[in-house]
Amino acid sequence: MNNLFIIEHPLLQAKLTVLRDKRTKRQEFRQTLSEIAMLMTYDITRNIPVSHIKVETPLEETSGIVLNKDVTLVPILRAGLGMIDGILELLPDARVGHVGVYRDKKTLLPVEYYLKLPENVKETFVILVDPMLATGGSALAAIEILKQKGIKELNFLCLVAAPEGVRAVHEKFPDVKIFTAALDRQLNDHGYILPGLGDAGDRLYGTE
Ligand code: URA
Repeated sequence: MNNLFIIEHPLLQAKLTVLRDKRTKRQEFRQTLSEIAMLMTYDITRNIPVSHIKVETPLEETSGIVLNKDVTLVPILRAGLGMIDGILELLPDARVGHVGVYRDKKTLLPVEYYLKLPENVKETFVILVDPMLATGGSALAAIEILKQKGIKELNFLCLVAAPEGVRAVHEKFPDVKIFTAALDRQLNDHGYILPGLGDAGDRLYGTE
């Protein structure tokens, strides 16, 4: 699948296994989700725009780079929040917008219940964050909102994706780059990913 990037590093896959395990308790789940988000940040920023600069080592001049774009993280409420601290470990200066959105089951239109983005968001490198890409309903709704704000290049970071969700996003927005640690088998009748890891928000916040 084009624009789907599955990150298969063993450190990351070992952490994903901890998250999948139903015996993993809240504190370890939170900690591990944050760590995995940090590791995934390496990959998702692989093509971040840079400028080339000169730098003086104690011995001579050489060339180096600086990042030349601000980064905006946009967690989809609420489970997306669980990945933000880990990403900020590597991108401490990133701005964080928030989007609370769901897709109305009857009208299929996105219903936005919260939105706060930095003013210059369309000039930044934007990473939309949600651990689970299941039906794609909330991802599509969030992407629609961000595209309306003029954001052209969008990166979507999730932990586990279902084929149905990837297809739904790419049918409408083939240019959105999806980064995930796993492409799982399928959704069940309730929209949960199989094998998945259960309800990420509930496991993070103890509301199961
Ligand atoms: N949201 C979750 O948290 N888990 C799923 O499996 C699907 C959607």
